Amino acid sequence: MAFWKIGPRGEVEFLGLQIVAGYGTARSGKAEVVAGTLRLTIPRGLNGRLRRELVEALVWRALARCYRGRFQERMEVLNCELMQVSTPRLDIRRQYRRWGSYSSRGYIHLSHRLLLAPQDLVDYVILHELAHVKEMNHSARFWRLVAKACPDYKERRQKLARFSLELPGRGRVPAEVQRGIEEQLRRWL
Ligand SMILES: [Zn+2]
Repeated sequence: MAFWKIGPRGEVEFLGLQIVAGYGTARSGKAEVVAGTLRLTIPRGLNGRLRRELVEALVWRALARCYRGRFQERMEVLNCELMQVSTPRLDIRRQYRRWGSYSSRGYIHLSHRLLLAPQDLVDYVILHELAHVKEMNHSARFWRLVAKACPDYKERRQKLARFSLELPGRGRVPAEVQRGIEEQLRRWL
């Protein structure tokens, strides 16, 4: 599956959003999504590595904000149909090690890498975290809850492990996208 596209004039598209990059004065950079376009504003004078790190952080933050509502809706549907716990709030964060976590303060945090994952894997992670609302551990009782809501959860866990290894760039902004953004910035110099 192609998550990104680079057009003939260097147009960058990533996860359905056109990315437009340019320089600006905001010292920590800026990213906003307007009408299907992610506008990146990068401060001048950063060296290559710092600029790449900033682009990485800004792109994922903007995408997470953009797609959060969709994930929240999906969680509400799954919860209503299969788990029926008090509805947590959902947030998407840049996390590379875990797919999700549940905090007793009523928050489910999902890894940004799930933006790249197929729906059945996203659903498994959401159901897993919803089950933690009832069982804050990985006891036999916890896994029974998961199995009831998601009978093929073992298969999905294996798929998730494979997906993690096959994920382009392990969840970083793909090199092609990064290059496309750098190219746009060079034109601004
Ligand atoms: Zn867990």
